[in-house]
Amino acid sequence: MTRSEELFLQAQTLMPGGVNSPVRAFQSVGSSPRFIGRAKGSRIYDVDGNEYLDYIGSWGPLILGHARPEVVQAVARSAENGLSFGAATGAEVTMAELICELVPSVEMVRLVNSGTEAVMSALRLARGYTGRDKIIKFAGCYHGHSDAMLVKAGSGVMTAGVPDSLGVPAGCANDTLTAVYNDLESVVSLFEQNKGQVAAVILELVPANMGVVLPREGFLPGLQKLCRDNGALMIADEVITGFRLGTGGAQEHYGIVPDLTTFGKIIGGGLPVGAYGGRKEVMEMIAPSGAVYQAGTLSGNPVAMAAGITQLTILKENPRIYFDLEALGQRLREGLKTIIEAHGVNASVTGIGSLSCLFFSGKEVRNDTEARQSDTERYRTYFNFMLSRGIYFAPSQFEAVFISAAHTPEDIDDTLACAEEVLKK
Ligand code: PLP
Repeated sequence: MTRSEELFLQAQTLMPGGVNSPVRAFQSVGSSPRFIGRAKGSRIYDVDGNEYLDYIGSWGPLILGHARPEVVQAVARSAENGLSFGAATGAEVTMAELICELVPSVEMVRLVNSGTEAVMSALRLARGYTGRDKIIKFAGCYHGHSDAMLVKAGSGVMTAGVPDSLGVPAGCANDTLTAVYNDLESVVSLFEQNKGQVAAVILELVPANMGVVLPREGFLPGLQKLCRDNGALMIADEVITGFRLGTGGAQEHYGIVPDLTTFGKIIGGGLPVGAYGGRKEVMEMIAPSGAVYQAGTLSGNPVAMAAGITQLTILKENPRIYFDLEALGQRLREGLKTIIEAHGVNASVTGIGSLSCLFFSGKEVRNDTEARQSDTERYRTYFNFMLSRGIYFAPSQFEAVFISAAHTPEDIDDTLACAEEVLKK
């Protein structure tokens, strides 16, 4: 038995959900999971010594790759200085300064410990600010694992087995209304049915938890106007897109000015950091300046701040990184498109910047069980073949999401060669 198999058995006994629990194993599709032993740059090595080219980067935070020396040293220095407890230090202020400087819509910011917590806090703040209780979200957008937001999103492992609604028994209070992404009419009718009751609309500006879906032209500005006209706040959940498409995130890319923004992943440099921020007038509702309570024992923890500040500072000082990431993403997308065209593969490719996605299903067949089944099987064959060749990307049901980070053009070409081998069959 391999060490990964031993750990998997143990995890199943000790952790509810087994491999779908927060065990940091490689999530597998139908086969035995592998556990990470060490990682460096774009490579991870499992506990049995096998090497993989990693297209997840710890599910998104590691835009500069694993174990970036400056980040590792900053964390060590902070811990050695005895700053590993949650009292206020200058590090929090530096982090706040960086976020406010780089994301123009954010005038004030609060630090928390995860993307989920950032979303929960932003929603509570929106309710406090507007005095309303309802929230509009979009089917398929993922906003973390809080009970208010966990509506089955896309086909990621984090929602596998979760009922389509909230994961709680029918009849429990539910103030969350669900609209259709890219469909303004669905938002208009929810506003009409819930006049004067909607506190906020929350969305991923580029949904990246159901593959990668791009906003249609006019959708985001139209939504921003609808929010303003109806007195609801617009909350951009940039936990996955923040600092990934440029330091200003997806909002800068699409020219949107949300009232509140949530962050996570990249701002922590691999350690647990989340943040939410936005318009001063709204943020000042937080206690003690305002009435909305929010605090956390380890929020702004200096060791985590050290990792995040270092990563954000590298990004800020080296804008070239984003050009390189964009070039890697484009190389991958163009290569995949060429392969599927050349071999008549029933699939499509989307993406933006370093986020690329190979869809085995057109969205229109998502509700057709037979088509879904066959897409899932083709996806599994693809995933398992790529993993057997040492290429690891986010497991799903029928979308392969690749996040480029510290890869080289040669890594991309190797990936494309493997992809062609399995797709042409
Ligand atoms: N929001 C978005 C858009 C996400 O992608 C995620 C995580 O994948 C979250 C919120 C939740 O963040 P976390 O897993 O750090 O709690």
